[in-house]
Amino acid sequence: MSVKSPIHSQHYPDSFYVATANNLFEYPKLTENINVDVCIIGGGFSGINTAIELRQRGYSVALLEAKRIGWGASGRNGGELIRGIGHDASQFKNEIGEQGVKSIQQMGFEAVEIVIDRINEHSIDCDLHMGYCDLAVKPRHMDDLAEEYQDLKNQGYQKPIKLLNRNQIGEVIGSDFYQGALVDMGSGHLHPLNLALGEARVARELGAQLFEYSAAEKIIKGDKPKVITAQGQVTCDYLVIAGNGYIGNTLSPYLGGKVLPTGTYLLATEPLTSQQCASIIPQNMAFADMRVALDYFHLSADRRLLFGGLCTYSGKDPKNIEAALRPNLEKVFPQLKGVKIDYEWGGMMGIGANRMPQIGRLPDAANIYFAQAYAGHGVNATHMAARLIAEAISQQSQRIDVFNDIKHITFPGGPMLRSPMLAAGMLYHRMKDLL
Ligand SMILES: Cc1cc2nc3c(=O)[nH]c(=O)nc-3n(C[C@H](O)[C@H](O)[C@H](O)COP(=O)(O)OP(=O)(O)OC[C@H]3O[C@@H](n4cnc5c(N)ncnc54)[C@H](O)[C@@H]3O)c2cc1C
Repeated sequence: MSVKSPIHSQHYPDSFYVATANNLFEYPKLTENINVDVCIIGGGFSGINTAIELRQRGYSVALLEAKRIGWGASGRNGGELIRGIGHDASQFKNEIGEQGVKSIQQMGFEAVEIVIDRINEHSIDCDLHMGYCDLAVKPRHMDDLAEEYQDLKNQGYQKPIKLLNRNQIGEVIGSDFYQGALVDMGSGHLHPLNLALGEARVARELGAQLFEYSAAEKIIKGDKPKVITAQGQVTCDYLVIAGNGYIGNTLSPYLGGKVLPTGTYLLATEPLTSQQCASIIPQNMAFADMRVALDYFHLSADRRLLFGGLCTYSGKDPKNIEAALRPNLEKVFPQLKGVKIDYEWGGMMGIGANRMPQIGRLPDAANIYFAQAYAGHGVNATHMAARLIAEAISQQSQRIDVFNDIKHITFPGGPMLRSPMLAAGMLYHRMKDLL
């Protein structure tokens, strides 16, 4: 059962984040024709941070958001800021070489630093707290964690990490459900909507023009791309498309065909007592387990358990999110059986077939960039994508090429067949999880 959010939250989902948002600043609708160096479509982390990076390099920027700033996955997610980009960069060695794999691995560390620096430099109040654990559910997950630990050491990861076995795991979590954990003090958790709103404030203060309720309806490619909205038009030298899981199939069938919007959901409990918090999550860390359809959770600043999970591919939300997620929550923390749920919500993350973010230029338009398909690992990776696109546009670096060189298939069969295909693929992985 969900608590009603305040009126200024109009058109945002009814989530815990919206109810605790710092400042839901209202941006104007685009109602004229304007010219800028760069037009950005999408007001999530990808779009907003591209705006910041480009303004910092002196480009004029207009950002078009169809709904509200942070309305998409960026303002709804689990808030887990986790090192790493993509599923496993080494599987792309044939396409990008060993150097390319190393470069993506290092960017997976850099991405987290970009977020932390942005928060600190601009005093963004978003409850950042460091400390995160990957959790082993099956005994074989412990081997994977040991391998991950060694890989991180080999890659020169500088943050404190340690492995905990079943007997030691009580240090970080009060649950018998897990076999062990990999603790990483270089990852953590935050309030994602307040991060997005704070970053939008930074973009605005740097001089970017942000527009809400200004959906890009049509793109006209050319030396000077044009973006048409219901009541206006933006003409630009460069265009960045960052609509991700909400891009749809009409604006760019090329991009829409490579990303599958996948629903995932969260519950926020009533505020817990300090004793309950200390008994379930004594060091205030964030957690995610190692299954394909994973649980992810942490405590909010006001001591609620934010508990996420589920994956849906139909585009439809479960009728009752609490009923779907509560059994998972109570399996992990039986001591919270019957706890009151104050909020439930979900959102669409974009997933590609190979689970590596899609960052690059359109093959038929070198002045149109895109970033999408971070799966459930976008809080950090969006910030890296924004930097790569800004570097490429300002010709400071072509680090983006390593991502541009990775092939991403178009899901065959169009929108109707895409969801059942991915569902079938995920079912296969879930079956493997059960073994
Ligand atoms: C419930 C949930 C939990 C998650 N948990 C985590 C987590 O804990 N950690 C993590 O790292 N990642 C997580 N993710 C993934 C992460 O949130 C995303 O990868 C990331 O926010 C993507 O940011 P984005 O800016 O690319 O897309 P979004 O934030 O989705 O923004 C895209 C925006 O584009 C706009 N748009 C689309 N089409 C148009 C158009 N034609 N014109 C104008 N605007 C348009 C949309 O309205 C939307 O606001 C989660 C995602 C979800 C949904």
